[in-house]
Amino acid sequence: MDFAIAEEDKMAVESLKRCVEAEVLPLTKGKCDKAFSPELAHQLMSILNPYGIGAGWLPEDGGGMGLSYMTSGMLYGELARLAPDVAGLAYVSEGAAMKIYRRGTAEQKARYLPGMAEGRIIGCGAVTEPGTGSNVRQLRTRAVRDGEGWRLSGEKMFISNATVADISTVLARTGENEFGIFILDRSVHKFESGELEKLGLNGWSFGSITLDNVYIGDEFRLGDGTSGLSEAMSGFERARAWVAVISSGIARAALDDAIRYATERDQFGVPIATHQLVQQLLADMACETEAMQLLTYKALAALDAGGRCDLPTSMAKVYASEAAVRVASRAIQVHGACGVTREFPVERHFRNARMLTIPDGTTQINQLIIGRELTEIPAFLGAAGRKTKPRSAAA
Ligand SMILES: Cc1cc2nc3c(=O)[nH]c(=O)nc-3n(C[C@H](O)[C@H](O)[C@H](O)COP(=O)(O)OP(=O)(O)OC[C@H]3O[C@@H](n4cnc5c(N)ncnc54)[C@H](O)[C@@H]3O)c2cc1C
Repeated sequence: MDFAIAEEDKMAVESLKRCVEAEVLPLTKGKCDKAFSPELAHQLMSILNPYGIGAGWLPEDGGGMGLSYMTSGMLYGELARLAPDVAGLAYVSEGAAMKIYRRGTAEQKARYLPGMAEGRIIGCGAVTEPGTGSNVRQLRTRAVRDGEGWRLSGEKMFISNATVADISTVLARTGENEFGIFILDRSVHKFESGELEKLGLNGWSFGSITLDNVYIGDEFRLGDGTSGLSEAMSGFERARAWVAVISSGIARAALDDAIRYATERDQFGVPIATHQLVQQLLADMACETEAMQLLTYKALAALDAGGRCDLPTSMAKVYASEAAVRVASRAIQVHGACGVTREFPVERHFRNARMLTIPDGTTQINQLIIGRELTEIPAFLGAAGRKTKPRSAAA
């Protein structure tokens, strides 16, 4: 096992850091309390594009950089340390580009991928609805055949990039047990999108998409119109690893801020870092941050290896998103009352981290995935829905 980071990855992370400090942070300063405007979101994506953010996952034949998930994860970890709202914006857009790359026709790829690869077209993925979260099969948005095309009706909720995305890949029911993915294009289709106020990561757009009998030509159907659910589910593995990446970045920022404050603040005539209990707080934060980083790297390595990787990606997601909340909470403790004011960054790290135990499978859903992988017994329906005997009973 090699824990060394390749020299070229270190250099790529260093150039991204310089770009974020010089060009991104001046633009987002004072603008992270509400969703970035579409103009700002596009400007940020264009600035970061040459550094592998926004189109790093797209293979070269799709116009992207074809980075390994490991390299991309390191870049995103650094971006999340400095500007997590921007990391959220970009990884969701990359996910939409990958769906088009994997499932799109030659025409769909030619229409969207060049713009996505250059950071000019922002994407999002719309699955969740007001009544449908963890149980995706319950979704109500319908796509009904209408001549050569489809009519889409329904409401999508809690959608990242809802108000800044140019295109959205929408999961809709096409039959009783069939689901399709459709490309909703803001320049072609008429639909409403709105922002929701939330706890943290406020620069990152998050809202609703309302589809009121929207006509969508068949050329916007992605894939066969029946197996969209499995395509959406396979994208969740990568998304879970990315929530872990962003959580790790936020935790590192909280740890750095806590170390800085502990060495600068004096109480009882000495810097508070001199007090052993403050060092314990820092030590616990450092151990958890390191552990989440390692689990995340393992998930990224599994993604690079190809094939299904539910176990490492769910483990990384559960641990990193929950641990980041604990790390950020301890960073507040190290800061005392200053930690709960808006004058210091740690309350923001806490609010940002708290957002991430929910998307791409809540902690509980990912724990159920881990449990299923360990026992081969799906427990999503609880004890009442159990149809399979435990492994020991079956043996
Ligand atoms: C920051 C953020 C970004 C997001 N981005 C997107 C996006 O881009 N696209 C998109 O489609 N959605 C997005 N979502 C929505 C997200 O995917 C859902 O919020 C999530 O799947 C949970 O659904 P829910 O909120 O309806 O909660 P529910 O499913 O109603 O769950 C409520 C509670 O019940 C628990 N629960 C549910 N079922 C079980 C079970 N079987 N066993 C045990 N506990 C259970 C959950 O863990 C949770 O604690 C985002 C959410 C957030 C917070």
